[in-house]
Amino acid sequence: MKVRYPRVEINMNNLKQNIKAMIDICGKKGIQVAGVVKGATADLKVTEAMAECGVAQIASSRIDQLEDIKNAGIDKPLMLIRIPMLSEVEDVISICDYSLESEIEVLRALNEEANKQGKLHKVILMADMGDLREGFWDKDEMIEVAKEIENKMINIQLVGIGTNLGCYGSIYPNKEKLQELVDLARRIEEALGRELEIVSGGATSSVMRLFDGDMPDGINHLRIGEGILLGYDYQKLYGYKEEETGISKDVYRVKAEVIEAKVKPSYPQGQIAFDAFGNQPEYEDRGMRKKILLGMGKVDYAFTDDLVPLDEGVEILGSSSDHTILDVTDAKRDFKVGDILEFEVCYSTLVYLTNCKSVQIAYV
Ligand SMILES: *Cc1c(COP(=O)(O)O)cnc(C)c1O
Repeated sequence: MKVRYPRVEINMNNLKQNIKAMIDICGKKGIQVAGVVKGATADLKVTEAMAECGVAQIASSRIDQLEDIKNAGIDKPLMLIRIPMLSEVEDVISICDYSLESEIEVLRALNEEANKQGKLHKVILMADMGDLREGFWDKDEMIEVAKEIENKMINIQLVGIGTNLGCYGSIYPNKEKLQELVDLARRIEEALGRELEIVSGGATSSVMRLFDGDMPDGINHLRIGEGILLGYDYQKLYGYKEEETGISKDVYRVKAEVIEAKVKPSYPQGQIAFDAFGNQPEYEDRGMRKKILLGMGKVDYAFTDDLVPLDEGVEILGSSSDHTILDVTDAKRDFKVGDILEFEVCYSTLVYLTNCKSVQIAYV
């Protein structure tokens, strides 16, 4: 394969180490791991690695990604983790083994479609515990829906309940929050007169309860993406060290090529109006500076502030759709046209980089 830039390199050894470490940490507490692949745009090598290392299910928010995984013949139960659209009910039944649900109308449509296709579809009802994204806010309503599935929907199997925390409302999955979910599971079990198979206590952030040893009993399933794919937030946001977690943050790197290296003013010359995206950024006059231009821009990674250069003394000044502008006056390296710069990748840049057709993916 011809090498092209920008280029994302995936360190498969570190990735597999992360998957195994995560399954191990969770397994010790009797917790199953659904490997969430949407953060890496369901890259098939990444998905295969998750399947090989033994995740319980492969999960994504997007049905097209799960379809590709199914067509690739990856032999794992597939879980849709975004509440399905009414318009995708047919695909949910034909492609997915599990889905997360919060609307009775959708559940009724799924039951009908599963009946048509002669299938039994497994669902997890989502409870909103305060993060205010998906899930039942009214828990009595949730119990009524659970009873309707149990008593009236022949082709839908209610396997459990779950919650999502941290994605919209930034709610931290502390012990009390997760205990609330376990208590709710017990209420539903009482209403149904049987045990639930799955109590799905969230995502990457909930694993910190295992690091700290205060995961409530009763949580037996987590849906983990970032913590396996990147492990960046544990170290960068929460201060856990790799030695404590066994999770490496060095799975992905993005490389870009220098297309221009020149000494230029730091302050734009002329009448300042708007940038490429209609914004009015502030510019600081620091005189003439050595600057480089990269053949990579917002279309590739979206968030300029989230790129972390690995070279010392390199400062990212800004970007437009297809260019990134850096000040390298204080850098150790003497940058020239054709040089390659490397950056760390975090979740916000990973989702765009792996989704961008112009970015080459390589496995190292
Ligand atoms: C994205 C997502 C996850 C995984 O989140 P990570 O923070 O990447 O672990 C889990 N559950 C739901 C419902 C999601 O949308």
